[in-house]
Amino acid sequence: MLLIKCPWCGERAESEFAAGGEAGIVRPVNPESLSDEAWGDYLFMRQNKRGLQHEQWQHIHGCRRWFTVYRDTVSYAFQEVAESVREGGAA
Ligand SMILES: [Zn+2]
Repeated sequence: MLLIKCPWCGERAESEFAAGGEAGIVRPVNPESLSDEAWGDYLFMRQNKRGLQHEQWQHIHGCRRWFTVYRDTVSYAFQEVAESVREGGAA
């Protein structure tokens, strides 16, 4: 069983968590000024890289809080778990 460390609850089973996708994607300040292609890139294009990736996770069956991690997509090893500024909302 894979254990994931929630910054508030400690280590819990992977089944208590939901992945929220890539972290660090900043919403454009003036979306109306973007081209359709640039807006589409913001909405849909993600790195999905092999190796260390910065991701958002939610402790959905626990405290329900969001946090960010660096996860190795090859070994599934979690590193550098950090609290997130994101509160509530959908993934
Ligand atoms: Zn938690």
